[in-house]
Amino acid sequence: MIPFVDLKTQFKQIEPQIRASIDRVLEHGQFIMGPEVLELEQHLADFCNVKHAISCSSGADALLMTLMAKGLGHGDAVFTSPFTFFATVEAICLTGATPIFIDIEPSTYNINADKLADSIKKINDQGKLKPKAIMPVDIFGLPVDYDEINTIGKLYDLCVISDAAQSFGASYKNKPIGCLTDITTTSFFPAKPLGAYGDGGAIFTNDNELADILKSIRIHGQSGDNKYVNERLGLTGRLDTLQAAILIEKLKLLPGEIKRRNQIADQYSEALKDKVGLPYVKPERISAWAQYSILVPDPESLAQTLKENNIPTARYYPVPMHLQTAIKQFGYKSGDFPVCEDTADKIISLPIHPYLTDEQIDQIINVIRNTYN
Ligand SMILES: *Cc1c(COP(=O)(O)O)cnc(C)c1O
Repeated sequence: MIPFVDLKTQFKQIEPQIRASIDRVLEHGQFIMGPEVLELEQHLADFCNVKHAISCSSGADALLMTLMAKGLGHGDAVFTSPFTFFATVEAICLTGATPIFIDIEPSTYNINADKLADSIKKINDQGKLKPKAIMPVDIFGLPVDYDEINTIGKLYDLCVISDAAQSFGASYKNKPIGCLTDITTTSFFPAKPLGAYGDGGAIFTNDNELADILKSIRIHGQSGDNKYVNERLGLTGRLDTLQAAILIEKLKLLPGEIKRRNQIADQYSEALKDKVGLPYVKPERISAWAQYSILVPDPESLAQTLKENNIPTARYYPVPMHLQTAIKQFGYKSGDFPVCEDTADKIISLPIHPYLTDEQIDQIINVIRNTYN
C-alpha cells in the first residue's frame, strides 16, 4: 500500500538531527517550557514574518485560547465555514458563542467571501447576537480571500482569526500564512504540513497585548510576574519541549516539502482535468496542499477501486459542520448550505505527501483515468 502520509521516509531524511535534538532535551531535562520552546517560537515568527508566535498544545487549543483571549462568550456570533474539521466549530461553541456558517465556493472549497457581508448584516438586523469575529479556514492548505475578508472585518469591526491548521507554509500574494490577518492559528498534528511527533499548535499575531494574554492563558492564566497568581482562567496549553525540539528540525524541511507537494498537485491537475472536478487555486496563492481533494460522482466506489490497487484515500469531510449532532441546538438543517453539502457528497482526497515517487503518482493517475474512461 502507498502510504497516505509518509512520516517514516521523512524521518529517515533527518534521523541523526532528530535523535540529537531529542537527546539534548533528555540531557537538560526541562521538559516543560524548556529553551527549545522559545527557540522554535523565534524560528516560527521569522518564518511567518510576524512579531509573535505563541506555541501551544494543539491546533484546537490554539483556537480556543484565542477566543478566550478575545473574551468571546454567550450572545456572540462567530462567522465561519461549514466545510472544515470539527475543532473549528467546537472552539466557538466551547466559549458559549454561536457559529454562523457561510457557504463555500464550489471550486476552492473555502468560505465564499461575497456572502460574508450579507450574513453579518442579517445577524446585526436580527439583533439577537452580537457579531464578534470572522474565523475563515484555509481548507486543505489553500489560503482564503484574505484581502476581502480583512476588509469586511474592518468594516464591521470584527476580529479575523484564521484557522490555518492545514495551511502552514502556504502563501498569499507572496506573504506567508501567519502574517495575513489579525490572528492566525495552526496545528502541528503529525499529518499536517508541519507535523510534530505528537500534538502541538501555534498562534501568530502582531498584537503585543494579545500575545501576553495568550502566554498567560496557556499556563492557567498565570500572571507574568508570579507563577501562583492567576489573573484569568486558562488551560494546560503549552507545547512540550520535546515536540519543539523535533519541530525545529522539521521546519527546515518544510519549504522543500511544500515545493514538492505543489509539483505533485500540478501533475494530478494536468492529468485529471478532463476526468474529475479539480481543486482550484486562485492567482497569487500557493497552497500547502495538506490534501489534494477532487470531486467525483461516486467517491465511495472510487475509494474502493483505488484501495484494490493499493492506493489509500480519505474522505474530508463527509458530514458538514451544520449537520453535526453535537451542535444540533442551533437548529441548522439539511439544505442550509447547498454548495457545502454537495461538496461533502462528492469529495475524496488522494495521497499528496512530499515523498511520493513519480511512479506512484503515475499509478494513481492511471487508475483514476481508467475509472472515468
Ligand atoms: C487539524 C485541524 C484542527 C485541529 O488541530 P489539532 O492540532 O488536531 O487540535 C483545527 N482546524 C482544522 C481546519 C484542522 O484541520
